[in-house]
Amino acid sequence: MGQRSEKNANSTFISYGMYDHYYVFMKDNRYLCTLKNDMEHPLEQFKHCPKCGAAGFRVHDFKSKRCGKCGFTYYFNASAATAAFILNEREELLVCRRKNDPAKGTWDLPGGFIDPDETAEEGIRREIKEETSLEARECRYLFSLPNRYEYAGFTVHTLDLFFLCRVDDFRPLAAHDDASECFFLPLRDIRPSQFGLASIRKAATLFLQTRRFPDESPAME
Ligand SMILES: [Zn+2]
Repeated sequence: MGQRSEKNANSTFISYGMYDHYYVFMKDNRYLCTLKNDMEHPLEQFKHCPKCGAAGFRVHDFKSKRCGKCGFTYYFNASAATAAFILNEREELLVCRRKNDPAKGTWDLPGGFIDPDETAEEGIRREIKEETSLEARECRYLFSLPNRYEYAGFTVHTLDLFFLCRVDDFRPLAAHDDASECFFLPLRDIRPSQFGLASIRKAATLFLQTRRFPDESPAME
């Protein structure tokens, strides 16, 4: 077990690496939390208390920091996001190309972050409309995958909710917003490696596996 890193002078902890995770201890050797080895504290870049502005916003546990001055504790939870599998009448999958970083130019599925006070079903319908101009009639939840989304040098931890969405009329299809183009591909031509975001790549693999066994597929009818 070796020392992995000593955090900046503002922090009061030292971490030790072991296998795929590491343990974080206070300088008085009091155990604080366990982090995955490839994951920095999600609030690492937050140096000041968001409530009173004081420095000394310190690691409280693996997903929170606490202000040493006013005692405010902020918990960093995963942001909810959605993504849609949409098939046309020929069983071809609707694929978008990402217009923006992260992973600009790679394949993607329609989807995005859920807004405050929005349901996941509303969120996925809104994103489909914004990115493809299509109206989803029915959205059936399939499964979820955690992801890390790099934005402006900051790691956003997400929980991506995947839906199988039914669209009746594809005539309005046009790429907008975060999508530079949208196109249909037969499932045999879907290459999961072309999806730039890790959770989408994994989801595409899972989805293709289910479609190869029609009896077990999550088809809607
Ligand atoms: Zn404070």
